[in-house]
Amino acid sequence: MTSVVSNRKACVIGWPISHSRSPVIHGAWLKRYGVDGTYQKIAVPPDELAAFFGRLADDGFAGCNVTIPHKEAVFSLAHHREPSAIAIGAANTVWLDGGKICVSNTDVYGFMTHLAVSAPDWNKRPGAVCVIGAGGAARGVIYGLLEAGATDVRVFNRTLDRAGNLIKSFDRQRVRACAWSDLTADLGDATVIINTTSLGMNGKGCPPVDFTGLDPATIVVDIVYVPLETEFLRRARLAGLVTVDGLGMLLHQAVPGFEKWFGIRPEVTSELRRLVVADIEAH
Ligand code: NAP
Repeated sequence: MTSVVSNRKACVIGWPISHSRSPVIHGAWLKRYGVDGTYQKIAVPPDELAAFFGRLADDGFAGCNVTIPHKEAVFSLAHHREPSAIAIGAANTVWLDGGKICVSNTDVYGFMTHLAVSAPDWNKRPGAVCVIGAGGAARGVIYGLLEAGATDVRVFNRTLDRAGNLIKSFDRQRVRACAWSDLTADLGDATVIINTTSLGMNGKGCPPVDFTGLDPATIVVDIVYVPLETEFLRRARLAGLVTVDGLGMLLHQAVPGFEKWFGIRPEVTSELRRLVVADIEAH
């Protein structure tokens, strides 16, 4: 049970931080729910991170979001870590509890909630869930898929060793690493295909997947959200498949933090989405 609190401050920290869209999301919620609080961007260089957290409470912050390059460092300096952060070894959401620094990784929640909302039957058909990429985001996605009951997860990465290392921390009966060169050949029985690489970001590149001949019920997800329709999603759409873009993950991952800091569980609405899309298009 949470209660509305007033005059609260939260922020997002990173280095650099100018690109962050979190202030648009939290700012819209503060306004919509009439909360007496603020949410700002703060550029924190790596050598000032410990000092920033040392004075977080004195500076009046209820907590913060954390982005590149601080996610692992903040995980390390926390006093309490939620299972989502432990599974990934990185944190993106911080709150204070009795002066203690508590962290979670809400990217998992964001990804899984958006998938459940956009494609509720994603785990109903027999077949494989294919994850393209083996970086930090892939770790969260795989953790979320397994927690939700996926039984055949295949991880394709340009650097096969990285995929091999990544899957070591998961149930090896349910996850395996696959060669990049097998990407198209191994997708025949895929029910869900997820791009977690940075390919497609700002219109650059696309995972080498041929969607031709796949079952039209196949769900294709991209976690890259700039542009909103990546080349990967465009090709999937033209092949008649179900597509899910990356923006919903960004919107949903913000929900738990806002609730911790401001005492209201906010809603991800089409109006909020339009606001963030307009911000993406304006920049
Ligand atoms: P990361 O840890 O740096 O991992 C990057 C991944 O992309 C690796 O698997 C890497 O493969 C692959 N890759 C990069 N360039 C490639 C290329 N030219 N060809 C083939 N593979 C390539 O990054 P991350 O933190 O996982 O983030 C990945 C993407 O997810 C970013 O674009 C980020 O913005 C996005 N993201 C979105 C959300 C959201 O809310 N929607 C949340 C988190 C992340 P190698 O291992 O072979 O280098």
